Amino acid sequence: MISCLQEDKVRLQEELNATESQRQALSSSPQSQLEGLEVKLSDQTQELNKLCSELGTTDLEKHLEILVLENDRLKQELNGCQLQLQQLRNSLSGCISCEHSKENTLLHKQMTDLQLELGEKVQLLTELEQHLKDVLQEKTDREERLNKRLRDCHLALAKQPTSSVKYITKKVEVESSRTKQDLEEAQARNHYLQEQIAVQRRLLADQEQQLQDSWRTSAQLQAQIMMYEAELEQTRGEMLETFQAMEDEKNQAIEEVFLQARSEMKTVHENLNGVRMNLLSIQPALKTLTSDYNCLKNHVRDFPCLLQDAVNQTKREIYQAVEEAQKTNQDLLRKYKREMQLRKKCHNELVRLRGNIRVLCRVRPITLEDGTGLDTRNIISFDDDDGVLYVTHRGKTTMFELDKVFQPHALQAEVFQEVQALITSCIDGYNVCIFAYGQTGSGKTYTMEGSPEDPGINQRALRLLFGEVAERSADWDLTITVSMAEIYNETLRNLLAKDPSEKLEIKLSPDGSGQLYVPGLIQIRVESVDDINKVFELGRVNRATDFTNVNERSSRSHALLIVSVTGVNLTSGVRTTGKLNLVDLAGSERVGKSGAEGPRLREAQNINKSLLALGDVICALRSKQPYIPFRNSKLTYLLQDSLSGDSKTLMMVQVSPMEKNVNETVCSLKFAQRVRSVELGTMIRRAEKQDYSSRQDYESESPSTAAQQGRLNISHSGGSVVGKTTAGKRRLMASGEVNHRPAALPAL
Ligand code: ADP
Ligand code: MG
Repeated sequence: MISCLQEDKVRLQEELNATESQRQALSSSPQSQLEGLEVKLSDQTQELNKLCSELGTTDLEKHLEILVLENDRLKQELNGCQLQLQQLRNSLSGCISCEHSKENTLLHKQMTDLQLELGEKVQLLTELEQHLKDVLQEKTDREERLNKRLRDCHLALAKQPTSSVKYITKKVEVESSRTKQDLEEAQARNHYLQEQIAVQRRLLADQEQQLQDSWRTSAQLQAQIMMYEAELEQTRGEMLETFQAMEDEKNQAIEEVFLQARSEMKTVHENLNGVRMNLLSIQPALKTLTSDYNCLKNHVRDFPCLLQDAVNQTKREIYQAVEEAQKTNQDLLRKYKREMQLRKKCHNELVRLRGNIRVLCRVRPITLEDGTGLDTRNIISFDDDDGVLYVTHRGKTTMFELDKVFQPHALQAEVFQEVQALITSCIDGYNVCIFAYGQTGSGKTYTMEGSPEDPGINQRALRLLFGEVAERSADWDLTITVSMAEIYNETLRNLLAKDPSEKLEIKLSPDGSGQLYVPGLIQIRVESVDDINKVFELGRVNRATDFTNVNERSSRSHALLIVSVTGVNLTSGVRTTGKLNLVDLAGSERVGKSGAEGPRLREAQNINKSLLALGDVICALRSKQPYIPFRNSKLTYLLQDSLSGDSKTLMMVQVSPMEKNVNETVCSLKFAQRVRSVELGTMIRRAEKQDYSSRQDYESESPSTAAQQGRLNISHSGGSVVGKTTAGKRRLMASGEVNHRPAALPAL
């Protein structure tokens, strides 16, 4: 460019020289000179315009455009770099590897290159600016020079001859206006061009500003890059640390595993050594075992003979042991029998000591049905002594003493507990009678029969007998049969018969044994509680058949449940027969002399008679009188052999504790007291002793025989005489009992 400008300068010098020569020519010919000058001026002006256009616009604008383009390109590259940097950062968060760091280094290098390039470009721009300044300066200089030349030309013209000068001047003046106009136009154009230059300068300034901005952006970007690099460095450092830590961990783990493996290996080696040692120590044992085995083999060969010997030996020992056991068994059996006899003797002794006839009293409770009036007040009190009770009436207290008193709260089971021993003795061949005595409503039926939920003595006695039979079944074949009868108006009726209204008679046995029997009295064999219930139900139904008011009827008749227990000893063949008579007596209340008439009076008389007879018999028995008035009533006559001898009798006197029943209560208690307080005569006691000692010898042979022996001491001629005669014995034998074939239980 500078050389170009120098060339222009040279060319302009040449033109200036040509113009000088022309001026000289003009001076010779002013007209031609003026024309030549005008031509030159126009040429100069054109040249100037051309220069101006060349200098002012084309180059600068081109440079500027190039710079702008360059700047844009740099910006784009910068953007590209930023994008790449972002991508790099993203990928850096996911994975950090050496490749990325290499790429980063590459980018960094590129950036540096770009910065260098940018620096070069900036320097070039500065140079161009400087050049522009120089060109402008040169242009100004040339303008000045041209103006100076013009002035010189004017001056030279002025020195020309006046006429020609005048002409020329005139001509010039004429033409100078046109030239002036051209000059003005040229100046105006020049001015326009200068304005353009100013515009270009502003543009340049803007470009510079933009460049400055780009610089700043570039600096910021550089700072960001630095920051990213720092982050990258930090991340790399962290990664390296992590990697190092992992490496350390790995090394440590390897170390530990190695150590462990080594110790395990050591243990395995030790174990191996131990096993080797064991193997070494086992070898002799194996040898011993082998020898043992061989020895055993020999033994096994000899085993059958040895076994035979051992079996024979054992057999001998077993036979011996069995013999010994048999001996011991027999010994034990003998001892057992002796013990049983002793137990029985003790039991009998106990019963004897208590007295063969016992009188108990049961006071019934006052129930809701009795009401709450004054006359239902309680008049009976008790004592610590369970054989005493007090009746308080009209301020007077009377004491009554009995064998035992059951208070109102006494349970059925407690009452039964007291009579249990009597019932058991029935199996041993003793005859037993249990009477419930008392006025109507005093609880006789409750005590004997009870309710289905809480049964009385009757059912409990049979259950107990079943239990005993089962217990003794190994030694005894025991059979239990029951009969049910009723005595009403001194007439005996069979309650288990098809026709209960049929009267039964008590007769002497035709076999000459002196025993009593009742033809037609049915005996039913019972084996279970179900059987008992069926029999009781049949008895109840038959009792109710003929009479409209069963309760009234039951209060005026005696109900008898006769249980016979027949036993055969399985080893000795000895037979025993015991009888249990459970009697629910008719009401003991006295009928008002004036009030009772006809059948009612007869009923009352019969009841009174039979109860009186019972009292008399019991008294006579208890005091062991020689004469016992059995024949005074059907009841005592029927129960004769169950009352006499060593039979056991229990009288349960029932009383009501209410004030309204005080008279009957006192009567009943007096009756009880009378029966109980009978003294035993010394002579009888002696006789009893003799009887006991002789029986003792007998019982060691057979318990039942002795029992029968005891029963045989009865005379049967209206009254009985206590003695040892067996010829006069009398037994009540029912038709079924005679041949020991009890009737089958009829369907109800
Ligand atoms: P009896 O047969 O002497 O005429 P009952 O046995 O029929 O008398 O008794 C009359 C009433 O008294 C019946 O309702 C009976 O349930 C009741 N009774 C009697 N004794 C007791 C008692 N110990 N506990 C509860 N109630 C009784
Ligand atoms: Mg009754």
